[in-house]
Amino acid sequence: MKTNNLGYPRIGSNRELKKACELYWAGKISVDELIQNGKEIRRKNWHLQAEAGVDLIPSNDFSFYDQVLDLTLTLGAIPQRYHELAKTNSPIDLYFAMARGAQKDGQDVVAMEMTKWFDTNYHYIVPEFTKNQKFELFSEKIINEFKEANALKIATKPVLIGPISYLLLGKEKEEGFHRIDLIDKLLPVYFEIFEKLQAEKVEYIQLDEPFLALNLTDKERNTFTQVYNEINIRFPKIKIVLANYFDCFGENLATALALPVDTFHLDLVRCPSQLDDILESGKLAANVNLSLGVVDGRNIWKNDYKNSLTLIKKATDALGENRILVAPSCSLIHSPCDLDLETNDETLTPEIKQWLAFAKQKVNEIVVLKQLASNEVIAQNSVAFERNTIANDNRKTSTLIHNNDVKARVAGITATDDQRKSNFATRRKSQIEALNLPLFPTTTIGSFPQTAEVRSWRAKFKKGELTTEEYNELIEKETEATIRFQEETGIDVLVHGEFERNDMVEYFGEQLSGFTFTKNGWVQSYGSRCVKPPVIYGDVSRPNPMTVKWSKYAQSLTSKWVKGMLTGPVTILQWSFVRNDQPRSETCTQIALAIRDEVVDLEKAGIKIIQIDEPAIREGLPLRKEEWANYLDWAVKAFRISASGVNDDTQIHTHMCYSEFNDIIQNIADMDADVITIECSRSQMELLDAFANFKYPNEIGPGVYDIHSPRVPSSAEMVRLLEKASAVIPVDQLWVNPDCGLKTRHWDETKKALIEMVAAAQEMRAAV
Ligand code: GLN
Ligand code: ZN
Repeated sequence: MKTNNLGYPRIGSNRELKKACELYWAGKISVDELIQNGKEIRRKNWHLQAEAGVDLIPSNDFSFYDQVLDLTLTLGAIPQRYHELAKTNSPIDLYFAMARGAQKDGQDVVAMEMTKWFDTNYHYIVPEFTKNQKFELFSEKIINEFKEANALKIATKPVLIGPISYLLLGKEKEEGFHRIDLIDKLLPVYFEIFEKLQAEKVEYIQLDEPFLALNLTDKERNTFTQVYNEINIRFPKIKIVLANYFDCFGENLATALALPVDTFHLDLVRCPSQLDDILESGKLAANVNLSLGVVDGRNIWKNDYKNSLTLIKKATDALGENRILVAPSCSLIHSPCDLDLETNDETLTPEIKQWLAFAKQKVNEIVVLKQLASNEVIAQNSVAFERNTIANDNRKTSTLIHNNDVKARVAGITATDDQRKSNFATRRKSQIEALNLPLFPTTTIGSFPQTAEVRSWRAKFKKGELTTEEYNELIEKETEATIRFQEETGIDVLVHGEFERNDMVEYFGEQLSGFTFTKNGWVQSYGSRCVKPPVIYGDVSRPNPMTVKWSKYAQSLTSKWVKGMLTGPVTILQWSFVRNDQPRSETCTQIALAIRDEVVDLEKAGIKIIQIDEPAIREGLPLRKEEWANYLDWAVKAFRISASGVNDDTQIHTHMCYSEFNDIIQNIADMDADVITIECSRSQMELLDAFANFKYPNEIGPGVYDIHSPRVPSSAEMVRLLEKASAVIPVDQLWVNPDCGLKTRHWDETKKALIEMVAAAQEMRAAV
C-alpha cells in the first residue's frame, strides 16, 4: 500500500507567497528574491511530506498565481494582446501581466478572465483559444521543479491538468470551432513534456481530469478514450495517475475505467458509493490501482479513521494491498496550512481544535491510515487510532455542538414559514403607499469606502488600543457623514455604509453561536488573495440582534429610508467551512432562522426596507445537473424563511453579483424578493435579458456602473444603460444602483460616480 498526495498549499503557512508577490508587484523586492521565496516554499513542502512518509509527493503544484495560468504559459497559449509585451518583459512579468493586466511604460493590456474552479472558492485564469490556436513548449516549469526536487533527493510525481480538462476549462475567443477540436494540436506539447520528464527518470505523472465528474458529451468522452490510449502507446513506462475529484464519474464511469492508466484517483468524500460501483462493475483492469481519497481536502474536520478504514478494507479485500493508495480527496490547496499555528485558545478552544485537521495534519492522516490499514507499526498507531476515536466521539456528543432548541425549531418549521403574508402584487400596493418612492428610485448596494483609516480603527479596537466607546464613536461619525453625503446627493434609499464590518460573512459569524474563527486558517482564493472562512461547528442560533443598533442609528439621522443590510443564509454557508456531521441544508436552515429573527427585529426597530444579500447562491450549484433541483429547493427555501417574517409593507431586497442567471431565473423568481439588484454594467445590460425573457414579475435594479474600476462613468453612459433596461423591463419595475458594494473604492471617485448616477435617474424620470 502507498500514500498519494495530490497537491499541497503553496501560499506558505504564514502566507509567505502573498507577501512576496505583493512586494514584488510594488517594486520592493527583486525578481531573484521572489523566485527564491517560491523555491523556499517548495523545499519546505516537499520536506514536510517526505518526512511525514508520503510516497507519491506532488511537484508542479506550486504556482506564483494559478496552476491553470502556469499551464497556459507552459503550452505557449499566450493571447495575441500580450505578444508585444512578451518581447520586452521577462517571462514572470509576462505571466503576471496575463494574470493582472499591465499598465506601465505606455503599455496597457487587460488581464485574462478569471472564474471559479469547479464548485470551490478558488479562481483560475481562463485559457483563451482561437481557431488557429498554436501550442508550443514555452515554459519548462514542470520539468525544472521536478529536477529541483530531485536535487533535494526527493523523487516527486509531477502534477499536470490533463489535456481534455485543460481545453474544457478554456473559452473560444472566436466563432467557428469548439475548443475540444484543438486536442490534436495540443497533444504534441504534452508528449514533449512527458519525454523530458522521462529523460529525468520520472516514475509517476498525475493528470487531473476533474471534468470526468461532470456531464460530458459523447464527443468529449470519445476524446478521453483516444487521448489516453495514445499516451499509453507512446509512454508505456510512465505510470499515469488519473485524478478525478469533487464528484463521481457518473455516466462517464465505463469510459473512465477503460482508460489504460496506472491508477485511478477517487474522491471518496464527495462520493463514497463509487468504490462499490467500481469494485462491483468488474471493469477495473487487473493491475490497475486505486487511490482512495478518504481524507477531505476541502474541509477542516479531522478524519474519522474508523470510517476510512472500512472503505480501505473493502478495497484491499477486493484488490489486495498492493493496488491501493491512500490519499486526500483532492489537492490540499483548498485546506488551510497548519493547525499547529492556531494558538488562540479563546476563539479556537482546545475542545474544538481537537476536531480539526489542516493540510499538514491531513498529510499525517493519510500516512497513519496506510499504516493502520496495512498493520504497520501497530503499537504506535493504535494510540493514534484511539485518540482519533476519542476526538470524533467527543464531537458527536459535545454540548458545544448540539442545541436542542435549535433542532426543535428547525423540526417545527411549517409550510407557512417560508411564505410572505400576501403575494407580490398585494405587497407592492402596501409598499408603494408606505414608502412613497419616485420612479427609478436610486440606492446603493450597502458598503461605502472602507478606507485605510476605517480599517485601522478596527485593528486598534481588536488590539485593545481603542475602547468600545471610542471605536463606536468613530464608526458613528463615519456613518453620519455617509448619510449626509447620500442626502446631499439626492439618493432615495440610503444605507448606513457597513463601516462596522470587516467582511460580510465574518461579521455575522462572529455574532452567531455555532461559529468560530481561526487565526491563520488562510486558503488561496486567487493569486495573492487569500480568505479565512469562518468555521461552522455547531447548531447555529442568534443570541442577540446583530445589526439593529447600526441601522437604527443611521435611520435616526435622516427622514429618508435607510435600508437594513444582512448577508443571506446561503452566502454565509457557502463562504464558511461547514460542519460535515449533518446535511448542508440543515445548517443552512438554522442560519436562515437566525437571519429571520434579525429581519423581524429590524422591522420592529422601524426599518422598512431590508436587503438580504445572496451573491453566492449560484456558485453553490452542484457540479452535476441532476443534483441542481435538490440544492435549489433548499437554498431558495432558506432565503424565503429568512425573508418571510415581516409585514406586507416592509420591502425585502436581495442582491447578487455577476452570474449567469439564465439557468436559475425561475429559482430567483421563487425567492420572491420585492426588489433584486444585480451586477449588469460590464455586460452592457445583456444579463438583464434573462429577467426580461422570463417576464420577471418583481422589481429589479440592474447595476448601471462597474464598481471594480476607479473609473467614473458619465450620467450619459448610465442613461444609455437605463434606456436599454427600460426597453425590456417595465419602467415602474426599475431601480437605479451601482453593480455592487463600494467598499473597495475611494471616496473621491465614489462621490463623483453617485452624483452622475442620480443625474441619470432624474433624466430618466423626466423622460417618462
Ligand atoms: N452589501 C454588500 C456590500 O455592499 C454586498 C457585497 C457583495 O455582494 N459581495 O458590500
Ligand atoms: Zn455584489
